[in-house]
Amino acid sequence: MPWQLTESNVLHLWESGLAGPSAARSLRLASMAAPSPRSVADLPLSALNSLLLELRRHAFGPALPCTADCPGCGESLDVTVASDELLPAGGGTAVAATATVVSYGRTVTYRALTGRDVRAVDPASPRARQALLRRSVLSVDPPTDELPDEVLEDVARHLADLDPGADSVLTLVCPQCEHRWDAALDLAEHLWTDVCGYAHRLLHDVHALARAFGWTEADVLAISPARRRFYLEASTG
Ligand SMILES: [Zn+2]
Repeated sequence: MPWQLTESNVLHLWESGLAGPSAARSLRLASMAAPSPRSVADLPLSALNSLLLELRRHAFGPALPCTADCPGCGESLDVTVASDELLPAGGGTAVAATATVVSYGRTVTYRALTGRDVRAVDPASPRARQALLRRSVLSVDPPTDELPDEVLEDVARHLADLDPGADSVLTLVCPQCEHRWDAALDLAEHLWTDVCGYAHRLLHDVHALARAFGWTEADVLAISPARRRFYLEASTG
């Protein structure tokens, strides 16, 4: 892990992630865990997820607390998932694999989706899903400019086999009504929530100590968390 877990690094990470769309933030977070500084945008989504899980484990530990609402009865569930359970089999490949499918009389060659693909598509656009799937298509025989939606959906079904770790899915069972369902887990958003929580707690401490003693942010961050805790208690006691 080239990225070091320090308070000021987490604050930088938080600050740099505040601007821009979530797909760009996801890439920025994944690049923190990448072994080389080269762009992670062209890695398949499973490899990006591996990097996000590695960063999550490194910064906040291996247990991911999650909440979900049961679609059957509405009960709110708290579950804790081990990050190992979410790691794609094989850890995710470095190169987006390609494959071919025959769909509605057309031979379609496609590749696994990457972070660059996700970033390129506006999630708010009405045909975001089709636009994303279209990016995975490398060639069509016989050639066509407009691929029917049913062909794209065929490709979507096969994409899951090509890059099995692209989506993090939890199978949940409701203790109230025993309903069983698959819930998608957005690793980047989960990690981002942790980064925000950490940064907010730290900045609240800075604020309280600056107010109490007139210290600067640098003054507060320069002292150890244990001493900081002491001064915080002293300032309110
Ligand atoms: Zn339920």
